[in-house]
Amino acid sequence: MLRALLLAPPGAGKGTQGDRLAEIYEVPHIATGDLLRENVTRLTSIGERAMAFMDRGELVPDALVLSLVLERISTPDLLEGFVLDGFPRTLTQAHLAHEWGVANGRTFHAVIEIDVPRDQLVQRLVGRGKAQARSDDTLETIHHRLEVYADSTEPLLDFYRQRGILVEVDGTGSVEEVSARIRRRLDRLELT
Ligand code: AMP
Repeated sequence: MLRALLLAPPGAGKGTQGDRLAEIYEVPHIATGDLLRENVTRLTSIGERAMAFMDRGELVPDALVLSLVLERISTPDLLEGFVLDGFPRTLTQAHLAHEWGVANGRTFHAVIEIDVPRDQLVQRLVGRGKAQARSDDTLETIHHRLEVYADSTEPLLDFYRQRGILVEVDGTGSVEEVSARIRRRLDRLELT
């Protein structure tokens, strides 16, 4: 049982670490970026509305993301827990997620911040852009997404720090090293 959120800038390894955590704790890994990209590929109405924001490196409007997340989060496979990656990303989303958690007895056990220096993030994202041909991993968009993270998402760190559930982890080094750091921190928590 684990209810965790991965809160980190683009390129910090949320997706990779999210997959690993989900496997270890046997809970679903839900990445709003993946859900949105899937909607773009399937040309759903959400996908069509989200696409332009994503390509520009902007956040998709809260209402669109919320409709997607609420639909996903209400399914029974999440009763045992979940690893969320990429949501909440704004204070509005964080407040709503917190209200939902309180109402359903399912607030986060831990919010994991993966800390990686900016130059390394840019380097990793440029590499990913080449390898995966992601339309938002171009140099200009990368810098913009990092600004958007600093402006809209970083304030969430204080929101969760004040609630005593922020776990700050050094995100440099190999995937295995970061994953071991996260595990060590989570092992100390009482998950109820
Ligand atoms: P990611 O794969 O997490 O980097 O997300 C890719 C893109 O999806 C972001 O740059 C945003 O445009 C959009 N996105 C993902 N999650 C959210 C969210 N919680 N709120 C707004 N936009 C989001």
